[in-house]
Amino acid sequence: MKRSMTLTYEVGNGLYVNVTNKCPCSCTFCIRNNGDGAYGSDPLWLEHQPTAEEIIEDLKRRDLDKYSEVVFCGYGEPTCELETMLKAADYIKSVSSIKTRLNTNGLGNIINGRSIEQELKGRLDSVSVSLNAPTKEEYDAVTRPSFKDTDCFAAMFEFAKRVKEYVPEVMFTVVDVIGQDKIELSRQLAEKAGIKLRVREYISE
Ligand code: SF4
Repeated sequence: MKRSMTLTYEVGNGLYVNVTNKCPCSCTFCIRNNGDGAYGSDPLWLEHQPTAEEIIEDLKRRDLDKYSEVVFCGYGEPTCELETMLKAADYIKSVSSIKTRLNTNGLGNIINGRSIEQELKGRLDSVSVSLNAPTKEEYDAVTRPSFKDTDCFAAMFEFAKRVKEYVPEVMFTVVDVIGQDKIELSRQLAEKAGIKLRVREYISE
């Protein structure tokens, strides 16, 4: 018998979409390392890669207008399943004026082998990019990307700068556990790129 999968879940006033469990990184602080769910949700491991149609069916059961935003996030990197996410975003935009946000590791261009920034236009109102650390060395140590011959830190940073041309709100994030010095250096780096830095609370379960 097919078990139900958690494709959408509520966090605060937002509705989160669990697009995929795929991710080319293995971040030391990833919530995937610490338990089954996030923010008290049902388990977020997907028993198969959901199609856009499955996600849209799930979204149809929600009253989208009651949420503050829809966030593509979940237990993986949404741009690993870019077409699925874009179809779901198109559906949301066709039925509601609710704002949409992508939480991403910023490696979507490497993952998809092309520049994806323009494809986000009109589909996302906000993109939150995990900066994670103020230098390439620290970034690599924390995120442990599987693309060994690529400067992922530079690619992530370039993605954030370029996506500003297509998406109204772009921000960088770091988790609070990196410490005040690194947070300050991250803030300076973000500022140089004209991007706001948000410090996220570390979720341990
Ligand atoms: S990028 Fe996100 S999903 Fe991927 S390992 Fe890091 S925290 Fe986890």
